[in-house]
Amino acid sequence: MALIVQKYGGTSVGSVDKMKAVAKRVIECSQEGNQLVVILSAMAGQTDRLIQLAGEITDHPDPRELDVLLSTGEQVSIALFAMIIKSMGYDVRSLLGFQVAVLTDRLYGKARIRKVETARLKRELKRNRIVAVAGFQGLDSHSDITTLGRGGSDTTAVAIAAVLNAEVCEIYTDVNGVYTTDPHICPKARKLDAISYDEMLEMASLGARVMEIRSVEFAKKYNVSIHVRSSFSKERGTMVVAETMDMEKVLVSGVAYNKDEARITVKKVPDNPGIASQIFKPIGEAGVVVDMIVQNTSEDGLTDVTFTVSKSDFYNTMKVVRDVALEIGAEKVLGDEDISKVSIIGVGMRSHAGVAQTMFETLFRENINILMISTSEIKISCVIEEKYTELAVRSLHKVFGLHNEKLQER
Ligand code: ADP
Ligand code: ASP
Ligand code: MG
Repeated sequence: MALIVQKYGGTSVGSVDKMKAVAKRVIECSQEGNQLVVILSAMAGQTDRLIQLAGEITDHPDPRELDVLLSTGEQVSIALFAMIIKSMGYDVRSLLGFQVAVLTDRLYGKARIRKVETARLKRELKRNRIVAVAGFQGLDSHSDITTLGRGGSDTTAVAIAAVLNAEVCEIYTDVNGVYTTDPHICPKARKLDAISYDEMLEMASLGARVMEIRSVEFAKKYNVSIHVRSSFSKERGTMVVAETMDMEKVLVSGVAYNKDEARITVKKVPDNPGIASQIFKPIGEAGVVVDMIVQNTSEDGLTDVTFTVSKSDFYNTMKVVRDVALEIGAEKVLGDEDISKVSIIGVGMRSHAGVAQTMFETLFRENINILMISTSEIKISCVIEEKYTELAVRSLHKVFGLHNEKLQER
């Protein structure tokens, strides 16, 4: 008898009919003799609707109350799902984050899991029940509800799989697995049979939302085996695993994009020691995560500092940076929201020169201007104008030999 954790995303539970299909799948797996913990997301679009409702009241909803609100989406899903399983004649228990207890820190909206208790889960499983757990939510040290950040149900699932030592954590979604790039924008994307934790981490951090980044961090840390697959087919999906030797041979294994970034430039900053710290300290204190940073070589003792933040942090950051700019005597602050970041990823890049050049040349051939560049051992990212995202992704996908040539371009 194996213990299996399954997570179903928003589209997979987007209607009662879809939930019924999920329930059948879960029951089949249970009939094969497995113990099942099923993590559910809110029904498709529900979290966005709740955010919009809060936005009708204020631009800055109280973070504590926002988490109380957002966590309701998943509560609806587990209750309906449990009713369906019961109506099919099987025993089931729905559990909210606090009932499990998924314990987190106090960072509302992006809380980190500190600990997951196993007693209640184990008790329910021992009674031969299917356990349905609300994803994306936890409880902080003050017994307040927290949420884990968008896409956080993946993290709930992997954390629970880790503490229960589950045989596998299956992430059910609306595509057949992890592809060489987003199959919704590049129809010739190829499904990968396996991907290493490190590559999946890079892909996730660079915008491929098929798995949420913290869930991959968890999986890597606790060696949880992950199977990303479709809710709508029986096809085998993608295993996310520790790196193996033959993975080294692939030069570039994926292309990712992120349209959720904005660029800020502080012009003509006096090039003195401590300036970077003066700019970025208040940004950090405002809880904003900065992604890429570029500082130009200085001319006449003045330099430009450019960086990116997520679009949701743009206005807030602009405000903070304008104040700093005045203090340090910078000339002005420029902002641009119409950008996106396109990246190529591959562990094989470590040992190959020329990959960056191929990327730059490909973008040049398509007449796409590169606004910023950043590299690491296993990725190269370029910031470009947002309107060229799809073109850039498809061209890079092709030039690095990732196209599935068996498929016709749609
Ligand atoms: P869920 O609601 O099931 O969590 P998400 O929308 O969060 O689903 O993630 C699945 C989506 O991720 C896919 O529909 C696809 O458009 C997108 N995606 C982006 N990059 C990739 C990739 N490399 N492979 C597969 N899907 C990707
Ligand atoms: N419902 C949450 C969201 O839409 C969490 C999740 O789906 O994983 O982000
Ligand atoms: Mg998701």
